[in-house]
Amino acid sequence: MKKRRFAALIRVVLGFVGMFVVLFLESMGISYEKRSETVSLLPPDQVMNVKKSRREKTCLMVYDSGEDNSFHAMEIYDQVLKDMRVPFDSYDVGSEGIKGFDIMLGRYESAVFVIGNYDVFEEKIFDISSWVGEGGRMLLGMTPDKSEYFDYIAGKMGIISSQYDFGEVASFVSDPGFMLGAQQAYVITDPYESSLVVELDDQCKVVAHTAEKNLPLIWQRNYKEGRFVVCNFGYAEKAYRGIFASSYTLLDDIFAYPVINASTYYLDDFPSPVPSGNGEYIMRDYGMGIADFYSSVWWPDVLKLGDKHGIRYTGLIIENYEDKTYGELPPNDSTADYYYFGNMLLNKGGELGFHGYNHQPLCGPDFMYHEDLGYKTWESNEKISEAITELSRFSKSIFPNQEFAVYVPPSDVLSMEGRAILGSSSDIKAIASIYFHGVDEYFQEFTVADDGIVETPRIVSGGIIDDYMTLAAFSELNFHYVSSHFMHPDDLLDEDRGAELGWEKYSKRLDEYMTWLDESSKGQIRNLTGSGMGGAVQRYVNLIPELKYDYNSVTLENQGLIDTAYYFVRANEGVLGNCYGGDLTKLNDTLYLLKVKSPKVVIVRR
Ligand SMILES: [Zn+2]
Repeated sequence: MKKRRFAALIRVVLGFVGMFVVLFLESMGISYEKRSETVSLLPPDQVMNVKKSRREKTCLMVYDSGEDNSFHAMEIYDQVLKDMRVPFDSYDVGSEGIKGFDIMLGRYESAVFVIGNYDVFEEKIFDISSWVGEGGRMLLGMTPDKSEYFDYIAGKMGIISSQYDFGEVASFVSDPGFMLGAQQAYVITDPYESSLVVELDDQCKVVAHTAEKNLPLIWQRNYKEGRFVVCNFGYAEKAYRGIFASSYTLLDDIFAYPVINASTYYLDDFPSPVPSGNGEYIMRDYGMGIADFYSSVWWPDVLKLGDKHGIRYTGLIIENYEDKTYGELPPNDSTADYYYFGNMLLNKGGELGFHGYNHQPLCGPDFMYHEDLGYKTWESNEKISEAITELSRFSKSIFPNQEFAVYVPPSDVLSMEGRAILGSSSDIKAIASIYFHGVDEYFQEFTVADDGIVETPRIVSGGIIDDYMTLAAFSELNFHYVSSHFMHPDDLLDEDRGAELGWEKYSKRLDEYMTWLDESSKGQIRNLTGSGMGGAVQRYVNLIPELKYDYNSVTLENQGLIDTAYYFVRANEGVLGNCYGGDLTKLNDTLYLLKVKSPKVVIVRR
């Protein structure tokens, strides 16, 4: 009897020891920090260049300011070429005319024509095709119109016949050997007739088409000594830039461009005061109040997804949900939830940043909201500064060893004066707002601003990742090799953000996105926190690459290399072999990820 009781006691003790070990390991976050690397934010003065390219301009972008579509496409390509560090000049046929155009074109190695109506070139159209025949590389960067002069050279780019009416493009499918994420078709929201209906000869290499395969969207065709690439895709939008960037990489036999290589998941409004009471759909699905749901369902599930996909979350602190923007700004004294959630996030290798003293955007008394989201303005710039100082004090009192370097503006709204005050009254070094234009939103490019603040926009959000967002994620993966996602714990209280859907479906969709990213990036994308993303962007903008071709090798000179950096390398001809000064990883038949570790990298061609 005594013995049995003793054995039971031992089991209890062992159980406690086991639990202690699990909790201890969890608090150390041992298995997670090893899995992904850390990229540090650099002092701003270490970033000397912002997307500079070498001085000699080898590419000409040709557009027609008299044509709306051409002008929009020019704006898209302008950023695409800058980000890819293609040194280019721009030529506006609409204002500069075509006199001497042939002589001018002859000075360049490649050209991007973002033109619909090729009749503007008249007889000069033959000079353009002759230039290609002599070795020029021409990208037709947007859907061309069928016209008299276009038809004169259409055969040289492989077009046997074409129609005057455009075909509707409702989906985009890449060849598996071309873009990343080619395992599925991408649906285009609000499709319209936007691509030339063509029959191509068998010398064309089609690398993208619609799901029905009735329309070729991107093809490549060698012509004598040169090459045509046709991007028969008419949607000139920021969300589709990766399609245009990838088209450009088809021009040269081998091409390399810098990429960011980073994936980040932000948790907005986390930690923050947990709402009391019940949420309609949470009660429907789980039969519990909001606070219990957050701690016993939502947060454990979010952590599980993080473990499964090697994610290190970045949480953005909100001190209170009062909307006071004047007078005294009282501190929040209930800090238990912040300790609990915040430390668990940190122990998993995550990071904390700022979202706000409250949820009012940092907009001073002169700011005008164009859209009424119920927000106020602050009584003065001093009050904005006071709010940031209080948030800083509050956060440091709970997490004394943390640096708070990342800021996410409430509802992505931030005024220019708010941004300046933020830089001067906190340690914020990176702002993660939004990639796409909105009404009042502070929208960004991936770059470093003049004041040294790193701009790290977020691209997709929530658990309702719709067709548009999916295509945008696909596009950015191929353009910058980047993914940036954000969500809120209170999405489950808001019908517009997925409350009715329920957490089970919401989290399943989230898991699908994370799985899509793991697969599409071929497991090579770095899982970083918000400041890691900032550090990656700093290294990316500082690079000034120069690619030199030899008979059996290519040399990449990396001016501005800080420690390591990444490139995509596209090999249209042949296969790449040994690499000196970096690590080369094959992502598909023609695309490689290059990790550069030395100012000079040599890749052997096989
Ligand atoms: Zn928020």
